[in-house]
Amino acid sequence: MSTLPPPLARLIAELVKLPGIGEKTATRLAFHLLRTDRDNVDQLAQALVGMRDGTRLCSVCLGLTAEDPCRICSDPQRDTDSICVVERPADLIALERSGGFRGRYHVLHGCLAPLDGVGPEQLHISELLRRIQGGGIREVVIATNPTVEGEATAMYLARLIKPLGPSVTRIAHGLPMGADVEYADTMTLGKALEGRREM
Ligand code: ZN
Repeated sequence: MSTLPPPLARLIAELVKLPGIGEKTATRLAFHLLRTDRDNVDQLAQALVGMRDGTRLCSVCLGLTAEDPCRICSDPQRDTDSICVVERPADLIALERSGGFRGRYHVLHGCLAPLDGVGPEQLHISELLRRIQGGGIREVVIATNPTVEGEATAMYLARLIKPLGPSVTRIAHGLPMGADVEYADTMTLGKALEGRREM
């Protein structure tokens, strides 16, 4: 590392922080960028900063958005009586791509993981309950991941939501156990939504 010019070493050190990027890949990317046109490097740098400054959480569903409320929450064509609960913004995007759900979403930003210190207070559960208490919700579809934590979160939410009135359904396990909603293919996700069952 010490033989590298400091600006190059600094970039590599930043790239290594990204998920799935090791020292080798970071070095390869850095050298690639060094050979790239100044204009292209500018565009990448601007895209990074623009993404960070221009993206925020929707005040209704807590999904990622450039405008608030997000396009899904403000779309009059979407069903207003169903909410699909997901762990991460990326799950929302994957489900949306499947086209199997026409309601609105709610992003928890994680799942219950007591061993990692993630309890209900760390998730956006109170916002979800407030939306349901606001009335007009017929169904809550729980699309947390089919992992131990995801299942525990689904059970926990069902217990809180059912007394408030809506039916609570869980997406079917066309998803293999342990698989992430985010990475499931569109067809599998469409089927998983179609085959959701009452909890
Ligand atoms: Zn929204």
